[in-house]
Order: sequence, then structure tokens, then C-alpha cells
Amino acid sequence: MSEGADHYRALDVAPEASREEIHEAWRFLLVAFHPDRFRDPEQRRRAEEITKRANAAWQVLGDAGGRRRYDRIRRDGRGAGAGAVAEPPRVRELPCPSCATRSRVPDAGGRIVRIACPACAEVFTAMIGARCVGRPRLEKRWLGLRYEALFADQYGDTSSVSFRHLPQELALSEGETMSVVFHPRRARPVYAIVHGGSLDLGWRVG
Ligand SMILES: [Zn+2]
Repeated sequence: MSEGADHYRALDVAPEASREEIHEAWRFLLVAFHPDRFRDPEQRRRAEEITKRANAAWQVLGDAGGRRRYDRIRRDGRGAGAGAVAEPPRVRELPCPSCATRSRVPDAGGRIVRIACPACAEVFTAMIGARCVGRPRLEKRWLGLRYEALFADQYGDTSSVSFRHLPQELALSEGETMSVVFHPRRARPVYAIVHGGSLDLGWRVG
């Protein structure tokens, strides 16, 4: 089974979630990621993948017997005390903040690393493969309203990133693995990318 096959993750709910919570999460994803809402072909593909995964998850978890069977398989698959499913090392594609050329870089488990763009040689920083903790919150700062998002790296250390504006879809990214590309000279985010399954969905945010 691949990472994308975890039905609880597909719906962004806890394994202990009630049937109502699961149902609500499924409906929510179907509305938020309706493919008709996305004009960009890549974003549309990712939205289609999310709704496909959500539908597959609901088909299993919405049925009491199906959910029991799935829980048993899922528990056994995790191994004794492993706590998490082992994932293969991943490569992320991140756009350069200056010329938008994509670089393929190894997942850094949420750490901030420096990248040199292969096309324009710009050096920039990116937080790669961090987990979005909680929903981004709108906060009043001296420079105006900002969305504050909290990210955790693989060791559980958290850092906050401030966004001037955030596409609606990114407000749903709690628990998702994300990367943020920063401006080469100013510490503000330029791109936010949500990594899921085999497809990445990115937004220009600055
Ligand atoms: Zn570049």
C-alpha cells in the first residue's frame, strides 16, 4: 500500500474519528476540491486525486464492517510499536522564486535548506517537507493582517511562517506535508506547495 492509501490521512481525520466526523470531512473535501474550481491543469489533477482518495476512503470508512476490517489491516501493517508507516525518501520539485524553474531536491524533513537554481543561479532558501500543524490563523501584525502558519519538522520542532495572503485551499492544509520557498533576499514566502500522493500542488503566495 502506498502512502496515499491511508484512508484517515486522505480525509485528514484521526483514526478515532466518529462516523459523523468522517462524513463531514469527506463532504468538505468534495466541495473544497471540486475539480471544476481549478483552471490550472496541474491543480485540477491534484484536486481530482484528492477527491478520488476521499471517495475511496469514505467507501471503506463509511461502512462499519469495512472500517473494522480496514482498521485491523492498518494496525497490522504498522508493525509493533513502529508508530508510523515507513516512507521512502522523496524528491520534491520546488520553483525558483526568481525565474520559476523547478529544481528537484531531496525532502529535508521540514528543515530550511539553501538551493541554487540550475537555470538562473539564484540562491534561495526553502523549507522542504514540513508538516502543517493546525490551521493557519489570521493575525494582526504591525505590518497589517498576516496569516500565521505553524510547521513542524521531522523532529517535532515547530516554526511559524507569516503569509501576506493565502489561497483559500491552503487554509485546509492542516496535517499536510508542505514546502515553502522564500524570497532570495527578504524572509517572506513566495511559493507554498502542498505535497500529496504523487502530485504537488503549488501556489504563488508573494
Ligand atoms: Zn531561477
